[in-house]
Amino acid sequence: MVKTLYMVLPCYNEELVIGETSKRLSEKFDRLLSAGVISADSRICFVNDGSKDATWEKIAALHSVSPDRFSGINLSRNRGHQNALLAGLMTVKDVPGVDCVISMDADLQDDIDAIDGMLEKFEAGVEVVYGVRDNRDTDTGFKRGTAGLFYKLMKSLGSESVPNSADFRLMSRRALDGLAEFGEVNLFLRGMVPLIGFKSDIVYYKRGERFAGESKYPFKKMLSFALDGITSMSATPMRLIFWSGLLMFLIAVISGLWVLLSHFIGHTAAGWSSLAVLIVAFGGLQLLAIGIIGEYIGKIFLEVKARPRYLIQDFLNK
Ligand code: UDP
Ligand code: MG
Repeated sequence: MVKTLYMVLPCYNEELVIGETSKRLSEKFDRLLSAGVISADSRICFVNDGSKDATWEKIAALHSVSPDRFSGINLSRNRGHQNALLAGLMTVKDVPGVDCVISMDADLQDDIDAIDGMLEKFEAGVEVVYGVRDNRDTDTGFKRGTAGLFYKLMKSLGSESVPNSADFRLMSRRALDGLAEFGEVNLFLRGMVPLIGFKSDIVYYKRGERFAGESKYPFKKMLSFALDGITSMSATPMRLIFWSGLLMFLIAVISGLWVLLSHFIGHTAAGWSSLAVLIVAFGGLQLLAIGIIGEYIGKIFLEVKARPRYLIQDFLNK
């Protein structure tokens, strides 16, 4: 059966890539249309995440030239990739007749040809299809290493994100309705989507180079994204504090007994170095523990305020 597909592409300062991305996606849509895979109501929807360049003007122009191909969502300001993506997903899922939505980056790093595979799986009844990159050749060795470490860490902390999948995935309307039930403000979509359940599968693709412009995820942002991912998906670090505290307490009891014993035996030599080491170790441990707790309290603070995750200024859709 023909499906109505919406593509969602968050864009932040992407004026250099939008032209090429829209062209290539549009060609793909032409092919899918004539093959009878997608319906004429299908759209390519760009989400402008408060760009400072001409990104929105380009999106609006695409819509006014071909309203039956391109849609646009303009956010009230920059809210970050995850919020922009959620804004897009939540907006298009409510367009009448939408069957499924595919999210991808605007910079052509996600392989457009993987869309066919995703739609095939959807047709076969799969509701969430993850795009999984089968190589990391285009990443720097550093990013490859840190990403691998991150996925291992996430797994050991109990979050079941699909390794090497970013935000290139297909979701059925029903899965998106499920995602809408998650009210959290601290978004880590690739950790949340597996929690929705439903039938899921993966499609492998080769991740390319960014077409133009530069990455909007410099190292600092990547690190904070990773930290957010861990602390919004897992409470295990807090539990680790408890266990390390317990271990330290046991060590303290044993060493206390040893100190008492040596006092009565008479070996009470000045032990400055061991004292200093202990003070440093405990001080460090306490600071670390407070830091981790603070990170969670910060998260609770944001969740309790329950501020809107995004505000939509314009939605061009016809
Ligand atoms: N992006 C966004 N808002 C932001 C930062 C990035 O919508 O605040 C978009 C960006 O335009 C791109 C996607 O998120 O479509 C992924 O960003 P990027 O390609 O810079 O990340 P990388 O691929 O380098 O990890
Ligand atoms: Mg990119």
